[in-house]
Amino acid sequence: MKERSRNPATKKIARDRIAVLFTQARVAFFTHPERSNRYVELARRIAMRQRIRIDREFRRQFCRHCSSFLMPGSTSRVRVHSGHVVVTCLCCGKRRRYPVGRPSST
Ligand SMILES: [Zn+2]
Repeated sequence: MKERSRNPATKKIARDRIAVLFTQARVAFFTHPERSNRYVELARRIAMRQRIRIDREFRRQFCRHCSSFLMPGSTSRVRVHSGHVVVTCLCCGKRRRYPVGRPSST
């Protein structure tokens, strides 16, 4: 990939596109859940290509393992267990743990 296709300007555009894709994923979830997963995949691909991190607010909205869009009560189960929030992906069964009260860390 040419160097000029990855610069601060393209990274800004990439972040905007990722935000749009996650918004779309949430909107589409109720009508076309399979599209949500597609949007997540696209967003992750953009992030990977531009080597940027997906913003904190979106990072917990998808399964890192299978790229499913996670909707608590529908495609994910959220439990608090010994000081951690445990998010289980109901598509692949993988779990992720987050410390309670420190939403700033991953
Ligand atoms: Zn999963």
